[in-house]
Amino acid sequence: MNRSTSEQLYQEALKHIVGGVNSPSRSFKAVGGGAPVFMKRASGAHFWDEDGNRYIDYLAAFGPVITGFAHPHITAAITRAAENGVLYGTPTALEITLAKMVKEAIPSLDKVRFVNSGTEAVMSTIRVARAFTGRSKIIKFAGCYHGHSDLVLVAAGSGPSTLGIPDSAGIPVSIAHEVITVPFNSLNGLREALNRWGDDVAAVMVEPIVGNFGIVMPKPGFLEGMCKLAHDNGSLVIYDEVITNFRFHYGGAQNYAGLDNHEQIVPDLTAMGKIFGGGLPIGAYGGRKEIMDQVAPLGPAYQAGTMAGNPASISAGIACLEVLQGAGVYEEMERLAIRLTDGLKESADRHGIPLTINRIRGAFSTHFCDHPVTNYDEAQDTDGEAFASFFRHMLDRGINLAASKYEAWFLTTAHTDEDIDATLEAAEASFRAMKEE
Ligand code: PMP
Repeated sequence: MNRSTSEQLYQEALKHIVGGVNSPSRSFKAVGGGAPVFMKRASGAHFWDEDGNRYIDYLAAFGPVITGFAHPHITAAITRAAENGVLYGTPTALEITLAKMVKEAIPSLDKVRFVNSGTEAVMSTIRVARAFTGRSKIIKFAGCYHGHSDLVLVAAGSGPSTLGIPDSAGIPVSIAHEVITVPFNSLNGLREALNRWGDDVAAVMVEPIVGNFGIVMPKPGFLEGMCKLAHDNGSLVIYDEVITNFRFHYGGAQNYAGLDNHEQIVPDLTAMGKIFGGGLPIGAYGGRKEIMDQVAPLGPAYQAGTMAGNPASISAGIACLEVLQGAGVYEEMERLAIRLTDGLKESADRHGIPLTINRIRGAFSTHFCDHPVTNYDEAQDTDGEAFASFFRHMLDRGINLAASKYEAWFLTTAHTDEDIDATLEAAEASFRAMKEE
């Protein structure tokens, strides 16, 4: 496949944009380097690059594009918003509509505040939790990624680990000391941390279903035990649902039927992002009324945003949720994901390539290993070179995956059986080629 235009553009981009990319996970550093593909156009489940090559996409822009690209209902909403002026700096009725839709889908949200990204949403939940509890420390779980703000970029997940920088430069040690990291799925780890630092812990933060070292389910009882330990300690529970909101069903992971005992795993605060903005920049945080009432202008915790709640993002979000309310939408993504993961596993087995697949509904992760992946250590202990080789073989056969062994594959409402057939054919050829290397 000729990608010479991408290579030229990459050389040009390197001169002007740091690393040639505006987010490190878009680079190919974690899969051996070289020019990433410069995409020109996208429609449905397909991308076309600057050389005219077509790809079937499973990156979904790292999650948000759950309806596929340029969905007509969302495009119409964005067009309408553009015609009416994209930014007012005043409240709008649209914001109330989206707030109500989100609250209805995720009942733990008494009140919400819209922001512009997942990073902002997480950052704000931490400030509010600290304001509410009067404590300063946060407990997080190893490998969970919560955006790039100082506090949560300590022993962080997919981006930083993939690039081999466990922590970021530029974060003061004093700030890192405000964060305690424990292994995911380990109640013992959490208990130990709370025994030691409990009086200072404002909140325990978690991706309730992990999306950043593959897709990893909490073990039965983990979230329940976590909430109990945190609350017994007077700490708040924050769910980072930036990836998981509206991903597995029309709601959050916190009220997803695949998790037991919903009433026992209700968070105090939730950070959101990605899907519910229909592909435009968005984030939100929300939770219990008395906690959210800490936020300015009602309370002493300041948080603001010029672009927050802009009519374009909000309109795209409303339209996206309307699409997701369609009958059988999630079931169809799951049906295709099952076909795809069954086929991938059979194909890998046929070629003697160890492959563990973690799937929940229409999202899954592929781990080149012969053991289960239930925490970050197990996700790290997989064959990165095999993944890199698979990634490149798939790309050359027109399949666009995330360029990291830790990222998920996302089905969208635009994928079809034909796409799955073509992907399985590419995978069979890729596994065969890997064996011949
Ligand atoms: N939290 C989680 C769970 C995420 O996956 C991400 C992004 N991948 C973020 C927070 C940060 O979101 P954003 O990139 O929109 O700032």
